[in-house]
Amino acid sequence: MTDSSNRFRTFAAQLLEHEGALVEPVEPHGLEAMLPGNLQQALRAPEFLRLGFAAELPAGAERASLESDWLERFGELLDGRGRRLKFAASATVPPLGHVERIVEHNVALQNAVYRLSQIEQAWTRYLIFIFRYTAISDEKREGIFRFGFNLINGSAIDPMIDQLLAAALDEGATETVTKPAASQLPADWTAEKLKKAVTRALPVRVRAHLGQFVNGMQRRLDRDLERVHEYFNGLREESWRKLKKQKGDAARERLRIEAAEREYQAKVADLKQKYDLRVNVELVQTLELISQVQRVTLVIKRRKGERKLPLDWNPIARQLDPLPCEWSFVAEGPRVVCDDQLHIISPAGHAPCPQCGREYCRVCSPRRCPKCGREESQAVDSKSGLV
Ligand SMILES: [Zn+2]
Ligand SMILES: [Zn+2]
Repeated sequence: MTDSSNRFRTFAAQLLEHEGALVEPVEPHGLEAMLPGNLQQALRAPEFLRLGFAAELPAGAERASLESDWLERFGELLDGRGRRLKFAASATVPPLGHVERIVEHNVALQNAVYRLSQIEQAWTRYLIFIFRYTAISDEKREGIFRFGFNLINGSAIDPMIDQLLAAALDEGATETVTKPAASQLPADWTAEKLKKAVTRALPVRVRAHLGQFVNGMQRRLDRDLERVHEYFNGLREESWRKLKKQKGDAARERLRIEAAEREYQAKVADLKQKYDLRVNVELVQTLELISQVQRVTLVIKRRKGERKLPLDWNPIARQLDPLPCEWSFVAEGPRVVCDDQLHIISPAGHAPCPQCGREYCRVCSPRRCPKCGREESQAVDSKSGLV
């Protein structure tokens, strides 16, 4: 059973349970559910539903692969209510000093210093996005991936997303919680800010999921290119040999070499088309998890500048959120601080301009280099169909 079908089974089981179904796993790699009336209607499914998630199906089960329409049916079920799924989770308070020590050990800025100014019990909102991707070249690959942000500061929560999602879908853990007042929660991001963040966050995650697929494709392409090259090289060498020995008709051999050259170029172009990669990414679902956190406030200093940054420790995952990258919204890697606005970014967001070599902050200047005016290429996104 692949990872993605495994995750799909867990996702389906959690969702069905959340919607009031009784769910039991059945082997191999399936589940059996008893659906209440409204859920039968919403999913256009019988009262007793058996789904299989791997190649081998349990007896009498419907196939719920990623290619089937089950993902859409689940999505419709949730979207039909015109809202995001929303959950609240409370948390146990960590021992005194615990979070401060974790911050001291884990938070490092390459070109700035910080001090811890405050620690408090607080609430936050995490947005979790579930995406489906379809990649097509000579082969097809589909899968699900998910990522999310903490709305207080844009920290990417990839390292703890499974735990947060499990908590969000575990009704028992959320029932007893009194939801905090809206004033205690970080505000909604504007549609523009959210779109920008998701658009920038997607390519890296898609690439990570497609790494193996792309490598396999590259190997097949290289192998085919080599084969074609060898074949035409053979033809060419033979003609050259004949030319050198002045055997046969020289003009004809020259024409033959030219024709082989053209055919070779055409074959290479065909191969490039055959292995051309198209990736489509669709948002399946957005979940919102409201969670209690321990919030530390960092005061970050760079040269004469100073800014405050809230950073949350999440008691469900028992982890500190990664420092945000306010440019690419990645979770991993080191962070630097920009001179002008003290943006926190991964080094790629402060990379030298390929034309003039000047390092600059991509949050401050998203479109062009402030020194020479070279435009930032957006080509990657539109080519892979991610926008
Ligand atoms: Zn430049
Ligand atoms: Zn900046």
